Amino acid sequence: MQAVPSSRPLHSRGAPAPASHRVPTGSGAEDPALTSLPQSGSLSAPPSALAEFDAFAASLRGRTPALFLDYDGTLADIAPRPELAAMPDEARAVVRRLSALCPVAFVSGRDLDDLTAMVAVDGLVYAGSHGFDLRGPDLRRQVGVDYVPDLDAADRRLRDRLDGVAGALVERKRFAIAIHTRQVAQPEKPSVAEAVRAVADAQPRLRMTGGKELFELRPNLPWDKGRAVLALMEALGLEGSGTMPIYLGDDETDEDAFRALTARGEGGGIGIRVMEEPAATAATWSLRDPAEAAAFLGRLADWLAQG
Ligand SMILES: [Mg+2]
Repeated sequence: MQAVPSSRPLHSRGAPAPASHRVPTGSGAEDPALTSLPQSGSLSAPPSALAEFDAFAASLRGRTPALFLDYDGTLADIAPRPELAAMPDEARAVVRRLSALCPVAFVSGRDLDDLTAMVAVDGLVYAGSHGFDLRGPDLRRQVGVDYVPDLDAADRRLRDRLDGVAGALVERKRFAIAIHTRQVAQPEKPSVAEAVRAVADAQPRLRMTGGKELFELRPNLPWDKGRAVLALMEALGLEGSGTMPIYLGDDETDEDAFRALTARGEGGGIGIRVMEEPAATAATWSLRDPAEAAAFLGRLADWLAQG
């Protein structure tokens, strides 16, 4: 294993740069990778990687999987506050078991230290702040260090503006600021959105994105979970044909990773979207919820252990 040199230009890898100032709409309709999806209006989820496990296993083509896992909504149920979204012990046990069978990395919007503490399995690779902050055995890389002062300024402005709004939670991460609105009363939500937008407009070096009941401000760099996964594969020596990267995630930020794997071409990787309702996705498989994701990983561990 070797660390990715932090001085390497961000633009040198093959994947196309994501659009700036992009706020996920949930439809993904403009994305060329999604245009081949059925447009009938009755979206159907991709096949279940658990119910059709044998077909899923065949799609590995005899290669060793490398697992890239989102945390919230993928292995831990979404909770009213981020610190309450604990991963069940059974899921932790299966992750630990898998880590002895194949490479395992977590890729999350959470702050790196927070993510590491929530997963609490030693020896894994962790990518926090949507992949801006990477750490693992023999690996350390931070993307966007120059943007910390911009985030500091935005953080102060957000706290000034949202101090009086009940339920609005401003969560500072090293390379992002999340504004959680799950606990904000419905009538107040538009004013929170407006405040976040105003702060974002005043910080042109940051970009605003959206998620499940949250807004986020991040460095306006061509970097996302997809770029982070490709960088990790290179850093961990997983780019060869003996490895099949598999990415599990549940929201729009994970679509960047599904698309990055799709862009590697036929057999370049497998996306699995965790979704209770059918949604437009670049993933080829689905799972219903975190409980089913843990069951799938358990099945995968059994299958790998059999050789
Ligand atoms: Mg998630």
